[in-house]
Amino acid sequence: MPSLNDIRSTFLNFFERNDHRIVESSPLVPRNDPTLMFTNSGMVQFKNLFTGVETRDYKRATTSQKCVRAGGKHNDLDNVGYTARHHTFFEMLGNFSFGDYFKSQAIPYAWELLTRDFGIPRDRLLVTVYHTDDEAADIWKKVAGLSDDRIIRIPTSDNFWQMGPTGPCGPCTEIFYDHGDHIWGGPPGSADEDGDRFIEIWNLVFMQNEQFEDGSMRALDMQSIDTGMGLERIGALLQGKHDNYDTDLMRSLIEASAHATSADPDGPGKVHHRVIADHLRSTSFLIADGVMPSNEGRGYVLRRIMRRAMRHAHMLGARDPVMFRLVPALIRQMGEAYPELGRAQPLIEETLKLEETRFRQTLDRGLRLLDDELAKLPEGANLPGEAAFKLYDTYGFPLDLTQDALREKGRSVDTAGFDAAMAEQKAKARAAWAGSGETRDAAIWFDLAEQHGATEFLGYDTEESEGAI
Ligand code: ATP
Ligand code: MG
Ligand code: MG
Ligand code: MG
Repeated sequence: MPSLNDIRSTFLNFFERNDHRIVESSPLVPRNDPTLMFTNSGMVQFKNLFTGVETRDYKRATTSQKCVRAGGKHNDLDNVGYTARHHTFFEMLGNFSFGDYFKSQAIPYAWELLTRDFGIPRDRLLVTVYHTDDEAADIWKKVAGLSDDRIIRIPTSDNFWQMGPTGPCGPCTEIFYDHGDHIWGGPPGSADEDGDRFIEIWNLVFMQNEQFEDGSMRALDMQSIDTGMGLERIGALLQGKHDNYDTDLMRSLIEASAHATSADPDGPGKVHHRVIADHLRSTSFLIADGVMPSNEGRGYVLRRIMRRAMRHAHMLGARDPVMFRLVPALIRQMGEAYPELGRAQPLIEETLKLEETRFRQTLDRGLRLLDDELAKLPEGANLPGEAAFKLYDTYGFPLDLTQDALREKGRSVDTAGFDAAMAEQKAKARAAWAGSGETRDAAIWFDLAEQHGATEFLGYDTEESEGAI
Protein backbone atom coordinates (compact mmCIF):
# COMPACT_ATOMS: atom_id res chain seq x y z
CA MET A 1 0.00 0.00 0.00
CA PRO A 2 1.60 3.30 -1.04
CA SER A 3 2.10 5.87 1.73
CA LEU A 4 1.25 9.53 1.20
CA ASN A 5 4.98 10.15 0.85
CA ASP A 6 5.14 7.52 -1.94
CA ILE A 7 2.14 8.99 -3.73
CA ARG A 8 3.62 12.48 -3.65
CA SER A 9 6.77 11.13 -5.30
CA THR A 10 4.87 9.13 -7.93
CA PHE A 11 2.98 12.27 -8.94
CA LEU A 12 6.04 14.51 -9.17
CA ASN A 13 8.05 11.84 -11.00
CA PHE A 14 5.29 11.25 -13.53
CA PHE A 15 5.28 14.90 -14.54
CA GLU A 16 9.04 15.22 -14.38
CA ARG A 17 9.20 12.33 -16.85
CA ASN A 18 6.88 14.38 -19.02
CA ASP A 19 9.24 17.37 -19.09
CA HIS A 20 7.92 19.30 -16.10
CA ARG A 21 10.28 21.05 -13.71
CA ILE A 22 9.81 19.99 -10.08
CA VAL A 23 9.43 23.27 -8.21
CA GLU A 24 9.40 23.56 -4.43
CA SER A 25 6.27 24.47 -2.54
CA SER A 26 6.05 28.19 -1.87
CA PRO A 27 5.46 29.41 1.70
CA LEU A 28 1.95 29.59 3.15
CA VAL A 29 2.19 33.35 3.36
CA PRO A 30 2.01 34.51 -0.25
CA ARG A 31 4.82 36.84 -1.25
CA ASN A 32 3.66 40.26 -2.38
CA ASP A 33 0.00 39.39 -2.44
CA PRO A 34 -2.05 41.33 0.08
CA THR A 35 -5.28 40.08 -1.55
CA LEU A 36 -4.71 36.58 -0.28
CA MET A 37 -4.47 35.52 3.34
CA PHE A 38 -2.77 32.16 2.85
CA THR A 39 -1.62 30.16 -0.12
CA ASN A 40 -4.75 28.21 -0.98
CA SER A 41 -3.68 26.38 -4.12
CA GLY A 42 -0.74 25.39 -6.26
CA MET A 43 -1.16 28.22 -8.74
CA VAL A 44 -0.54 31.01 -6.26
CA GLN A 45 3.23 31.08 -6.72
CA PHE A 46 2.75 31.08 -10.51
CA LYS A 47 0.12 33.79 -10.69
CA ASN A 48 2.34 36.20 -12.61
CA LEU A 49 3.38 33.53 -15.08
CA PHE A 50 -0.21 33.02 -16.18
CA THR A 51 -0.81 36.72 -16.66
CA GLY A 52 2.45 37.11 -18.57
CA VAL A 53 3.90 39.63 -16.11
CA GLU A 54 6.79 37.26 -15.38
CA THR A 55 8.60 34.54 -17.34
CA ARG A 56 10.94 31.82 -16.10
CA ASP A 57 13.26 29.34 -17.73
CA TYR A 58 10.58 26.64 -17.73
CA LYS A 59 7.15 26.38 -19.31
CA ARG A 60 6.00 23.30 -17.42
CA ALA A 61 6.15 22.80 -13.71
CA THR A 62 4.95 20.33 -11.08
CA THR A 63 4.63 20.89 -7.35
CA SER A 64 3.35 19.59 -4.09
CA GLN A 65 2.06 22.80 -2.56
CA LYS A 66 1.29 23.46 1.09
CA CYS A 67 -2.18 24.98 1.30
CA VAL A 68 -4.29 26.45 4.07
CA ARG A 69 -7.99 27.12 3.62
CA ALA A 70 -9.16 28.82 6.77
CA GLY A 71 -10.54 32.12 5.58
CA GLY A 72 -11.20 34.18 2.49
CA LYS A 73 -12.79 32.76 -0.63
CA HIS A 74 -11.88 29.18 0.16
CA ASN A 75 -12.62 28.52 3.82
CA ASP A 76 -12.93 24.93 5.05
CA LEU A 77 -12.48 25.53 8.78
CA ASP A 78 -16.05 24.58 9.60
CA ASN A 79 -15.86 21.40 7.53
CA VAL A 80 -12.94 19.94 9.43
CA GLY A 81 -13.79 16.94 11.53
CA TYR A 82 -17.20 16.63 9.91
CA THR A 83 -16.57 15.76 6.26
CA ALA A 84 -14.36 12.92 5.07
CA ARG A 85 -12.50 15.18 2.67
CA HIS A 86 -11.66 18.58 4.14
CA HIS A 87 -8.64 19.84 6.02
CA THR A 88 -7.52 23.34 6.90
CA PHE A 89 -4.00 22.31 5.88
CA PHE A 90 -3.49 19.98 2.94
CA GLU A 91 -1.06 19.31 0.15
CA MET A 92 -2.09 20.09 -3.38
CA LEU A 93 -0.33 18.17 -6.12
CA GLY A 94 -0.27 20.04 -9.39
CA ASN A 95 1.03 20.24 -12.92
CA PHE A 96 1.24 23.52 -14.75
CA SER A 97 1.72 24.72 -18.30
CA PHE A 98 2.51 28.36 -18.93
CA GLY A 99 1.38 28.96 -22.51
CA ASP A 100 2.65 25.51 -23.48
CA TYR A 101 0.18 22.59 -23.63
CA PHE A 102 -3.55 23.08 -23.07
CA LYS A 103 -6.69 20.96 -22.73
CA SER A 104 -5.87 18.30 -25.29
CA GLN A 105 -2.72 17.37 -23.38
CA ALA A 106 -3.74 18.09 -19.79
CA ILE A 107 -6.68 15.66 -19.88
CA PRO A 108 -4.67 12.70 -21.26
CA TYR A 109 -1.92 13.27 -18.67
CA ALA A 110 -4.45 13.15 -15.85
CA TRP A 111 -6.19 10.06 -17.22
CA GLU A 112 -2.93 8.21 -17.77
CA LEU A 113 -1.63 8.93 -14.28
CA LEU A 114 -4.87 7.95 -12.57
CA THR A 115 -5.72 4.82 -14.50
CA ARG A 116 -2.28 3.49 -15.41
CA ASP A 117 0.29 4.63 -12.83
CA PHE A 118 -2.17 4.70 -9.93
CA GLY A 119 -4.25 1.84 -11.34
CA ILE A 120 -7.66 3.30 -10.43
CA PRO A 121 -10.52 1.36 -12.07
CA ARG A 122 -12.00 3.47 -14.88
CA ASP A 123 -15.58 2.71 -14.02
CA ARG A 124 -15.19 4.44 -10.65
CA LEU A 125 -14.31 7.77 -12.27
CA LEU A 126 -16.55 10.49 -13.61
CA VAL A 127 -15.92 14.08 -14.60
CA THR A 128 -17.56 17.47 -14.73
CA VAL A 129 -16.99 20.19 -17.31
CA TYR A 130 -18.13 23.81 -17.49
CA HIS A 131 -21.51 23.73 -19.21
CA THR A 132 -20.34 25.55 -22.34
CA ASP A 133 -17.07 23.67 -22.71
CA ASP A 134 -17.84 21.23 -25.54
CA GLU A 135 -14.18 20.93 -26.32
CA ALA A 136 -13.30 19.49 -22.90
CA ALA A 137 -16.29 17.13 -23.06
CA ASP A 138 -15.16 15.87 -26.48
CA ILE A 139 -11.61 15.29 -25.27
CA TRP A 140 -12.87 13.27 -22.31
CA LYS A 141 -14.99 11.16 -24.57
CA LYS A 142 -12.14 10.49 -26.93
CA VAL A 143 -9.34 10.00 -24.40
CA ALA A 144 -11.17 8.17 -21.63
CA GLY A 145 -14.09 6.72 -23.51
CA LEU A 146 -16.44 8.06 -20.85
CA SER A 147 -20.12 7.78 -21.64
CA ASP A 148 -22.17 10.99 -21.74
CA ASP A 149 -23.73 10.41 -18.34
CA ARG A 150 -20.23 10.35 -16.82
CA ILE A 151 -19.37 13.76 -18.28
CA ILE A 152 -21.52 16.10 -16.25
CA ARG A 153 -22.02 19.67 -17.37
CA ILE A 154 -22.05 22.19 -14.54
CA PRO A 155 -23.20 25.78 -15.05
CA THR A 156 -22.03 27.15 -11.69
CA SER A 157 -18.84 28.64 -10.30
CA ASP A 158 -17.87 25.12 -9.18
CA ASN A 159 -16.54 24.72 -12.70
CA PHE A 160 -15.13 28.16 -13.10
CA TRP A 161 -12.10 28.38 -10.86
CA GLN A 162 -10.90 31.55 -9.14
CA MET A 163 -8.11 31.90 -6.62
CA GLY A 164 -9.74 34.91 -4.99
CA PRO A 165 -11.63 38.06 -5.98
CA THR A 166 -8.97 38.99 -8.55
CA GLY A 167 -6.36 37.15 -10.60
CA PRO A 168 -6.09 34.52 -13.31
CA CYS A 169 -9.05 32.16 -13.64
CA GLY A 170 -10.89 29.99 -16.09
CA PRO A 171 -13.29 27.12 -16.69
CA CYS A 172 -12.30 23.79 -15.25
CA THR A 173 -12.96 20.10 -15.45
CA GLU A 174 -13.03 18.06 -12.27
CA ILE A 175 -12.47 14.38 -11.72
CA PHE A 176 -14.56 12.53 -9.14
CA TYR A 177 -14.21 9.11 -7.61
CA ASP A 178 -17.25 7.06 -6.68
CA HIS A 179 -16.63 5.48 -3.29
CA GLY A 180 -19.71 3.29 -3.68
CA ASP A 181 -23.39 3.27 -2.83
CA HIS A 182 -22.85 2.32 0.81
CA ILE A 183 -21.97 5.99 1.34
CA TRP A 184 -24.54 8.75 1.19
CA GLY A 185 -24.26 11.35 -1.55
CA GLY A 186 -25.17 12.06 -5.15
CA PRO A 187 -23.06 12.84 -8.21
CA PRO A 188 -21.86 16.41 -8.78
CA GLY A 189 -24.65 18.72 -9.83
CA SER A 190 -27.33 16.61 -8.10
CA ALA A 191 -29.34 17.59 -5.06
CA ASP A 192 -27.24 15.32 -2.83
CA GLU A 193 -23.86 16.41 -4.12
CA ASP A 194 -22.74 17.52 -0.64
CA GLY A 195 -22.57 13.93 0.50
CA ASP A 196 -19.28 12.10 0.60
CA ARG A 197 -19.95 9.29 -1.88
CA PHE A 198 -18.59 11.08 -4.95
CA ILE A 199 -15.36 12.75 -3.94
CA GLU A 200 -13.67 15.36 -6.05
CA ILE A 201 -10.05 14.37 -6.41
CA TRP A 202 -8.58 16.52 -9.14
CA ASN A 203 -9.37 19.86 -10.68
CA LEU A 204 -7.89 20.81 -14.06
CA VAL A 205 -8.21 24.52 -14.68
CA PHE A 206 -7.98 25.98 -18.16
CA MET A 207 -6.44 29.34 -17.37
CA GLN A 208 -7.58 31.78 -19.97
CA ASN A 209 -9.00 34.82 -18.17
CA GLU A 210 -7.99 37.42 -15.63
CA GLN A 211 -10.49 38.87 -13.19
CA PHE A 212 -10.16 42.47 -11.98
CA GLU A 213 -11.36 44.22 -8.89
CA ASP A 214 -14.10 46.15 -10.72
CA GLY A 215 -15.66 42.86 -11.79
CA SER A 216 -14.42 42.97 -15.37
CA MET A 217 -12.56 40.10 -16.96
CA ARG A 218 -10.10 39.94 -19.83
CA ALA A 219 -8.94 37.07 -22.00
CA LEU A 220 -5.31 36.23 -21.30
CA ASP A 221 -2.85 36.33 -24.20
CA MET A 222 -1.85 32.74 -23.66
CA GLN A 223 -3.72 29.62 -22.66
CA SER A 224 -2.32 27.80 -19.66
CA ILE A 225 -2.97 24.84 -17.42
CA ASP A 226 -3.23 24.78 -13.64
CA THR A 227 -4.24 21.58 -11.88
CA GLY A 228 -4.75 20.63 -8.26
CA MET A 229 -5.23 17.24 -6.66
CA GLY A 230 -5.50 16.81 -2.90
CA LEU A 231 -2.80 14.40 -1.77
CA GLU A 232 -4.90 13.24 1.17
CA ARG A 233 -7.89 12.48 -1.08
CA ILE A 234 -5.98 10.51 -3.70
CA GLY A 235 -4.14 8.89 -0.80
CA ALA A 236 -7.35 7.74 0.84
CA LEU A 237 -8.62 6.01 -2.27
CA LEU A 238 -5.28 4.42 -3.13
CA GLN A 239 -5.11 3.09 0.42
CA GLY A 240 -8.59 1.61 0.04
CA LYS A 241 -10.10 4.11 2.46
CA HIS A 242 -13.00 6.44 2.08
CA ASP A 243 -11.94 9.02 4.59
CA ASN A 244 -8.86 11.28 4.36
CA TYR A 245 -8.43 10.89 8.09
CA ASP A 246 -7.90 7.15 7.69
CA THR A 247 -4.77 7.58 5.56
CA ASP A 248 -1.46 6.49 7.07
CA LEU A 249 -0.29 10.03 7.76
CA MET A 250 -3.45 11.43 9.33
CA ARG A 251 -4.01 8.24 11.25
CA SER A 252 -0.61 8.45 12.90
CA LEU A 253 -1.41 11.99 14.06
CA ILE A 254 -4.78 10.87 15.38
CA GLU A 255 -3.04 8.11 17.28
CA ALA A 256 -0.54 10.60 18.70
CA SER A 257 -3.49 12.69 19.88
CA ALA A 258 -5.13 9.60 21.39
CA HIS A 259 -1.91 8.73 23.17
CA ALA A 260 -1.39 12.24 24.55
CA THR A 261 -4.95 12.51 25.83
CA SER A 262 -5.47 8.84 26.77
CA ALA A 263 -8.72 8.96 24.83
CA ASP A 264 -9.78 6.22 22.41
CA PRO A 265 -9.09 7.37 18.82
CA ASP A 266 -12.31 5.76 17.59
CA GLY A 267 -14.49 6.38 20.61
CA PRO A 268 -16.98 9.15 21.21
CA GLY A 269 -14.17 11.71 20.99
CA LYS A 270 -13.38 10.78 17.39
CA VAL A 271 -14.24 14.17 15.96
CA HIS A 272 -12.00 15.89 18.51
CA HIS A 273 -9.02 13.79 17.45
CA ARG A 274 -9.68 14.60 13.81
CA VAL A 275 -9.82 18.30 14.50
CA ILE A 276 -6.66 18.14 16.60
CA ALA A 277 -4.76 16.21 13.90
CA ASP A 278 -5.82 18.70 11.27
CA HIS A 279 -5.17 21.81 13.32
CA LEU A 280 -1.79 20.47 14.41
CA ARG A 281 -0.73 20.50 10.80
CA SER A 282 -2.07 23.95 9.93
CA THR A 283 -0.74 25.63 13.05
CA SER A 284 2.71 24.00 12.82
CA PHE A 285 3.14 24.79 9.14
CA LEU A 286 1.95 28.36 9.62
CA ILE A 287 4.40 28.95 12.44
CA ALA A 288 7.20 27.38 10.38
CA ASP A 289 6.36 29.89 7.65
CA GLY A 290 6.64 32.83 10.01
CA VAL A 291 3.08 33.44 11.22
CA MET A 292 2.77 34.05 14.97
CA PRO A 293 -0.45 34.15 16.97
CA SER A 294 -1.68 37.71 17.40
CA ASN A 295 -4.85 39.72 17.56
CA GLU A 296 -5.05 40.70 13.94
CA GLY A 297 -4.65 39.55 10.41
CA ARG A 298 -3.04 36.21 9.68
CA GLY A 299 -1.90 35.86 13.26
CA TYR A 300 -5.47 36.03 14.46
CA VAL A 301 -6.54 33.26 12.12
CA LEU A 302 -3.67 31.18 13.49
CA ARG A 303 -4.77 31.96 17.04
CA ARG A 304 -8.35 30.97 16.21
CA ILE A 305 -7.20 27.63 14.83
CA MET A 306 -4.95 27.01 17.85
CA ARG A 307 -7.65 27.85 20.37
CA ARG A 308 -10.15 25.70 18.57
CA ALA A 309 -7.78 22.74 18.73
CA MET A 310 -7.19 23.40 22.40
CA ARG A 311 -10.89 23.34 23.15
CA HIS A 312 -11.14 19.99 21.39
CA ALA A 313 -8.25 18.65 23.48
CA HIS A 314 -10.05 19.93 26.55
CA MET A 315 -13.18 18.06 25.46
CA LEU A 316 -11.10 14.90 25.47
CA GLY A 317 -10.31 15.54 29.09
CA ALA A 318 -6.84 17.01 28.67
CA ARG A 319 -6.04 19.35 31.51
CA ASP A 320 -2.49 20.20 30.49
CA PRO A 321 -1.17 21.57 27.19
CA VAL A 322 -1.32 18.86 24.53
CA MET A 323 -0.68 20.29 21.10
CA PHE A 324 3.03 20.92 21.54
CA ARG A 325 3.54 17.29 22.51
CA LEU A 326 2.27 16.17 19.12
CA VAL A 327 4.81 18.09 17.07
CA PRO A 328 7.42 15.29 16.99
CA ALA A 329 4.83 12.92 15.48
CA LEU A 330 4.16 15.46 12.74
CA ILE A 331 7.83 15.94 12.04
CA ARG A 332 8.33 12.20 11.81
CA GLN A 333 5.67 12.05 9.13
CA MET A 334 6.35 15.21 7.16
CA GLY A 335 9.78 16.50 8.15
CA GLU A 336 11.55 14.88 5.24
CA ALA A 337 9.31 16.40 2.57
CA TYR A 338 9.19 19.76 4.39
CA PRO A 339 12.51 20.36 6.19
CA GLU A 340 11.32 23.79 7.38
CA LEU A 341 9.23 21.93 9.96
CA GLY A 342 12.26 20.41 11.63
CA ARG A 343 14.12 23.70 11.54
CA ALA A 344 11.24 25.44 13.27
CA GLN A 345 10.53 22.66 15.76
CA PRO A 346 11.58 24.57 18.91
CA LEU A 347 9.63 27.65 17.81
CA ILE A 348 6.52 25.63 16.99
CA GLU A 349 6.62 23.79 20.30
CA GLU A 350 7.22 26.90 22.38
CA THR A 351 4.54 28.89 20.61
CA LEU A 352 1.94 26.16 21.01
CA LYS A 353 2.82 25.58 24.63
CA LEU A 354 2.70 29.26 25.54
CA GLU A 355 -0.59 29.86 23.77
CA GLU A 356 -2.16 26.78 25.29
CA THR A 357 -0.93 27.63 28.79
CA ARG A 358 -2.38 31.13 28.54
CA PHE A 359 -5.65 30.11 27.00
CA ARG A 360 -6.17 27.42 29.62
CA GLN A 361 -6.41 30.14 32.24
CA THR A 362 -9.67 31.32 30.74
CA LEU A 363 -10.88 28.28 28.79
CA ASP A 364 -12.40 26.48 31.79
CA ARG A 365 -14.18 29.55 33.06
CA GLY A 366 -15.39 30.43 29.56
CA LEU A 367 -16.79 26.96 28.98
CA ARG A 368 -18.53 27.08 32.33
CA LEU A 369 -20.07 30.43 31.44
CA LEU A 370 -21.20 28.98 28.15
CA ASP A 371 -22.86 26.05 29.90
CA ASP A 372 -24.54 28.37 32.41
CA GLU A 373 -25.90 30.56 29.64
CA LEU A 374 -27.19 27.56 27.75
CA ALA A 375 -28.87 26.20 30.86
CA LYS A 376 -30.83 29.44 31.17
CA LEU A 377 -32.18 29.22 27.65
CA PRO A 378 -35.28 27.46 26.42
CA GLU A 379 -34.60 24.26 24.48
CA GLY A 380 -33.08 24.87 21.06
CA ALA A 381 -32.73 28.64 21.49
CA ASN A 382 -29.68 30.41 20.08
CA LEU A 383 -27.02 31.81 22.36
CA PRO A 384 -27.60 35.54 22.76
CA GLY A 385 -25.00 37.71 21.02
CA GLU A 386 -24.15 39.40 24.32
CA ALA A 387 -23.03 36.12 25.85
CA ALA A 388 -20.90 35.28 22.81
CA PHE A 389 -19.39 38.74 23.04
CA LYS A 390 -18.56 38.28 26.69
CA LEU A 391 -16.86 35.01 25.87
CA TYR A 392 -14.86 36.81 23.22
CA ASP A 393 -14.03 39.90 25.20
CA THR A 394 -13.38 38.44 28.64
CA TYR A 395 -12.37 34.87 27.99
CA GLY A 396 -10.62 35.18 24.64
CA PHE A 397 -13.06 32.90 22.79
CA PRO A 398 -13.02 33.75 19.10
CA LEU A 399 -16.59 33.77 17.77
CA ASP A 400 -15.99 30.73 15.59
CA LEU A 401 -14.80 28.76 18.62
CA THR A 402 -18.08 29.49 20.38
CA GLN A 403 -19.96 28.51 17.24
CA ASP A 404 -17.95 25.32 16.98
CA ALA A 405 -18.75 24.47 20.62
CA LEU A 406 -22.45 25.14 20.08
CA ARG A 407 -22.60 23.08 16.94
CA GLU A 408 -22.04 19.91 18.96
CA LYS A 409 -25.15 20.81 20.92
CA GLY A 410 -27.18 21.67 17.85
CA ARG A 411 -27.26 25.36 18.73
CA SER A 412 -25.94 28.52 17.16
CA VAL A 413 -25.15 32.11 18.07
CA ASP A 414 -27.20 35.20 17.44
CA THR A 415 -24.44 36.77 15.33
CA ALA A 416 -26.37 40.00 14.77
CA GLY A 417 -26.47 40.43 18.54
CA PHE A 418 -22.75 39.69 18.72
CA ASP A 419 -22.03 42.35 16.08
CA ALA A 420 -24.21 44.83 17.93
CA ALA A 421 -22.36 44.21 21.22
CA MET A 422 -19.09 44.66 19.38
CA ALA A 423 -20.28 47.91 17.79
CA GLU A 424 -21.41 49.18 21.17
CA GLN A 425 -18.03 48.51 22.71
CA LYS A 426 -16.36 50.27 19.80
CA ALA A 427 -18.57 53.30 20.25
CA LYS A 428 -17.74 53.40 23.95
CA ALA A 429 -14.03 53.19 23.23
CA ARG A 430 -14.41 55.95 20.70
CA ALA A 431 -16.25 58.17 23.15
CA ALA A 432 -13.57 57.56 25.77
CA TRP A 433 -10.94 58.67 23.31
CA ALA A 434 -12.93 61.70 22.29
CA GLY A 435 -13.08 62.76 25.93
CA SER A 436 -9.34 62.44 26.29
CA GLY A 437 -8.68 65.64 24.33
CA GLU A 438 -6.89 63.77 21.56
CA THR A 439 -9.82 63.84 19.23
CA ARG A 440 -8.03 64.42 15.96
CA ASP A 441 -5.51 61.63 16.30
CA ALA A 442 -8.12 59.41 17.80
CA ALA A 443 -10.41 59.97 14.85
CA ILE A 444 -7.66 58.94 12.47
CA TRP A 445 -6.79 55.93 14.58
CA PHE A 446 -10.39 54.77 14.71
CA ASP A 447 -10.85 55.28 11.00
CA LEU A 448 -7.89 53.04 10.40
CA ALA A 449 -9.18 50.44 12.82
CA GLU A 450 -12.53 50.61 11.08
CA GLN A 451 -10.99 50.03 7.68
CA HIS A 452 -9.04 47.09 8.96
CA GLY A 453 -12.13 45.81 10.66
CA ALA A 454 -13.80 45.72 7.27
CA THR A 455 -11.32 43.35 5.70
CA GLU A 456 -12.22 39.72 5.92
CA PHE A 457 -9.15 38.50 7.72
CA LEU A 458 -8.69 41.20 10.30
CA GLY A 459 -11.99 41.36 12.09
CA TYR A 460 -12.42 43.64 15.04
CA ASP A 461 -9.87 42.36 17.43
CA THR A 462 -7.38 45.10 18.19
CA GLU A 463 -9.27 45.82 21.38
CA GLU A 464 -9.23 42.30 22.74
CA SER A 465 -8.31 42.62 26.36
CA GLU A 466 -4.84 41.45 27.29
CA GLY A 467 -6.22 39.37 30.11
CA ALA A 468 -7.89 37.13 27.60
CA ILE A 469 -4.74 36.28 25.71
P1 ATP B 1 -14.48 20.64 -2.56
O1 ATP B 1 -15.54 20.96 -3.56
O2 ATP B 1 -14.40 19.21 -2.21
O3 ATP B 1 -14.54 21.54 -1.37
P2 ATP B 1 -12.78 22.38 -4.09
O4 ATP B 1 -13.54 22.37 -5.36
O5 ATP B 1 -13.01 23.51 -3.16
O6 ATP B 1 -13.05 20.98 -3.30
P3 ATP B 1 -10.37 23.02 -5.54
O7 ATP B 1 -10.34 24.47 -5.24
O8 ATP B 1 -10.84 22.62 -6.88
O9 ATP B 1 -11.22 22.25 -4.40
O10 ATP B 1 -8.93 22.41 -5.21
C1 ATP B 1 -8.31 21.37 -5.97
C2 ATP B 1 -8.22 20.07 -5.19
O11 ATP B 1 -7.66 20.24 -3.90
C3 ATP B 1 -9.56 19.41 -4.93
O12 ATP B 1 -9.98 18.69 -6.06
C4 ATP B 1 -9.24 18.50 -3.75
O13 ATP B 1 -8.65 17.29 -4.17
C5 ATP B 1 -8.21 19.30 -2.98
N1 ATP B 1 -8.83 20.05 -1.86
C6 ATP B 1 -9.54 21.20 -1.92
N2 ATP B 1 -9.90 21.62 -0.70
C7 ATP B 1 -9.41 20.73 0.17
C8 ATP B 1 -9.44 20.63 1.59
N3 ATP B 1 -10.02 21.54 2.35
N4 ATP B 1 -8.82 19.57 2.16
C9 ATP B 1 -8.21 18.63 1.41
N5 ATP B 1 -8.14 18.67 0.06
C10 ATP B 1 -8.73 19.71 -0.56
MG1 MG C 1 -14.04 23.56 -1.37
MG1 MG D 1 -15.46 21.41 -5.61
MG1 MG E 1 -12.77 21.97 -7.26
